[in-house]
Amino acid sequence: MIPISGESLVAGVIGRPVRHSLSPLIHNAWLGEAQIDGIYIALSAADEARFASLIDGLRGGSLKGLNVTIPFKETALVCADRATERASLAGAANLLLFHADGSVEADNTDGEGLLGAFRVQAPKFDPRQGSVVILGAGGAARGAAAAFALAGSPEVRLVNRTRERAEVIAQALGPKVQGAKVTVFGWDQMDAALNGAAALVNATSLGLVGHDPLAIDLAALPTGAPVMDMVYRPLRTPLLLAAEAQGRPTVDGLAMLILQAAPSFEAFFGAAPPAGVDVRALALTALGERPAAASKQGTRP
Ligand code: NAP
Repeated sequence: MIPISGESLVAGVIGRPVRHSLSPLIHNAWLGEAQIDGIYIALSAADEARFASLIDGLRGGSLKGLNVTIPFKETALVCADRATERASLAGAANLLLFHADGSVEADNTDGEGLLGAFRVQAPKFDPRQGSVVILGAGGAARGAAAAFALAGSPEVRLVNRTRERAEVIAQALGPKVQGAKVTVFGWDQMDAALNGAAALVNATSLGLVGHDPLAIDLAALPTGAPVMDMVYRPLRTPLLLAAEAQGRPTVDGLAMLILQAAPSFEAFFGAAPPAGVDVRALALTALGERPAAASKQGTRP
């Protein structure tokens, strides 16, 4: 690593809690490998008001930008002066860039990470060739729905415990993306949602360590349809294990995490992530997973 100096480029991640974020590990490994004079730090904010004042105080300042994680992604979009189309459609930003003229730009690379993860781990899947089922209606589900709609999926099927939240997303998204069809299903209509679908994405917090497992019957989902879980603690969630046991292609949340980090790195530090460091292996070790036992693709951007 190049020693930190007064000229070092600084970027980071902000959230609450942020202590367990893997982003500093990933970005600093890339910085070290690329021999870039930069550092990537983790910041926390006590609440939304303090988050907003911190972002305002950083205008035109010494940070290149920040990744934003739970629970500030929606507020981040509001704090910015302008936003990319994908951030506006997702209704949330995971990337804020501080420009020299004092302006703040919001972007959202989660969708890019999601679609990239499918490309790497389920390369036969084409989002344009069938309906995609997304479980959940929080920020992650909305971002995923926007990404699939922009990628040309003929239909996005949203399934959520609280149906009204999914309806809000459908109303926000449907009219804004040309040709987008967003259909809403209640949790008790799971089979109808899965029937004939081309892929399934879990964007709920079910399956996350300390939460209930996501226990659904996959029988109605066509056998070739990949199953993706955004949850990556544990890496092999009960949903992915069930899908694997049935011989289905699977896509894990760590691949998404790494592939959403890549465009952020380029925006902060002006270079693509170097290929010579295996950040997936580093992340797996940090997660307490055995890299060999979890040897999926998803390392290289
Ligand atoms: P969120 O806004 O809190 O939304 C949580 C969702 O889970 C809601 O739709 C909620 O349904 C549903 N849910 C919670 N408990 C449930 C239960 N017992 N039964 C059925 N549904 C339940 O969270 P988020 O920000 O969207 O994130 C969702 C997940 O994605 C998290 O695990 C997060 O870590 C992960 N994520 C991963 C990545 C990555 O890069 N891999 C990126 C972003 C997010 P209701 O609406 O009914 O409450």
